[in-house]
Amino acid sequence: MIYLDNAATTRVFDNAVDAAANAMRIDFFNPNATYRASVDANAEMERARNALAAAVGAKSDEIYFTSCATEANNWAIERGRKRIKGNVVITAGEHASVYEAAMQLKSRGIDVRVVPLTRGGQVDGDALLAAVDKETALVSVIHVSNETGAVNNIKKLAAAVKAKSPTTVFHSDGVQAVLKTREPISSLGVDLYSASAHKIGAPKGIGFLYVRRGFGIAPLLYGGGQEKNLRSGTQNTPYIAAFAAAAEDFARSADINKIAAIRDRLSEHFVKNGCEIVGSGPNSGFVLCVHVPEVKAEILQNIASDNGVIIGKGSACSGSKRGNRVLGAMGLSEKAAECCIRLSFFVDTELDAALDAARIITECADRIRSGHVK
Ligand code: PLP
Repeated sequence: MIYLDNAATTRVFDNAVDAAANAMRIDFFNPNATYRASVDANAEMERARNALAAAVGAKSDEIYFTSCATEANNWAIERGRKRIKGNVVITAGEHASVYEAAMQLKSRGIDVRVVPLTRGGQVDGDALLAAVDKETALVSVIHVSNETGAVNNIKKLAAAVKAKSPTTVFHSDGVQAVLKTREPISSLGVDLYSASAHKIGAPKGIGFLYVRRGFGIAPLLYGGGQEKNLRSGTQNTPYIAAFAAAAEDFARSADINKIAAIRDRLSEHFVKNGCEIVGSGPNSGFVLCVHVPEVKAEILQNIASDNGVIIGKGSACSGSKRGNRVLGAMGLSEKAAECCIRLSFFVDTELDAALDAARIITECADRIRSGHVK
């Protein structure tokens, strides 16, 4: 099986499995009690927080663990605003966990402005700035698109937004960017930044919200006061340990240039075979969105899977709401968007296997077009 749906989720690194197993079997104590074993479990959790913070370029007291990035994104949009009545600016390229959270604000009467994308898949920077005014409470811009891999220049956009409206809070969804763009979070100039573990070789069900030191976000969950009173709930110590171990493994083993070269070679193959690459401009290298004319992605995905190749279509994490909102915002027709597949890579993706997969995909597409498979 050749697995090319790593933007949906990744295989868990062995070290991350071991770290989680250790925290379940041996260091299983509640990290917030006062007896010795607990204090040790707490120390182990803080060691993991430090390691993770170092890997992603943040200070450890800026990392607040959540149950997933959806939670971190909802927290940022719902509770990150300092000005409750001010408008909110997001992009048309946001993941559903930002977009739908913003739509909830809209349903409560808040002015939510959705900024268009360019054909390349990046946010239109001029339109973003035009949408921001002194009343803008929060801006949220996805760092790397989960649909196309398109990279937004967060550093530049955050600086421009802050120059125009210094009190506006800047959040970025960094789920597909963390450790992949190699930009330390602290270098981006953001107030809030979300991440998810299962995109970098750790288990599903753990993420974090980066909260810039001194920012002062409102709590998400009230209760026992864990995570410095901001996100109550006993921390998921096994997955926190795994998250840190995976971040270290990913940082050690990811060859960004190798991944980008694989994406380039696959792009060439698809273009030679009558397909179009969706999106252009800066790309993380980890995601390749391909329009396969006249072939429904859903059918191609199934036939490719029968032939040992696993690919995505649109965003897997959108569950039943699989849509083409983002591709539509890039100017694709609904019909074209239905014919877009997504290939996404991980540190262990090898060129030869990826090229085999690409060949199998275009062969399957030819068979579907000629009516040999339904
Ligand atoms: N944001 C982006 C860009 C994503 O790709 C995903 C998941 O695919 C999420 C947020 C949600 O992450 P989680 O599954 O941890 O809730």
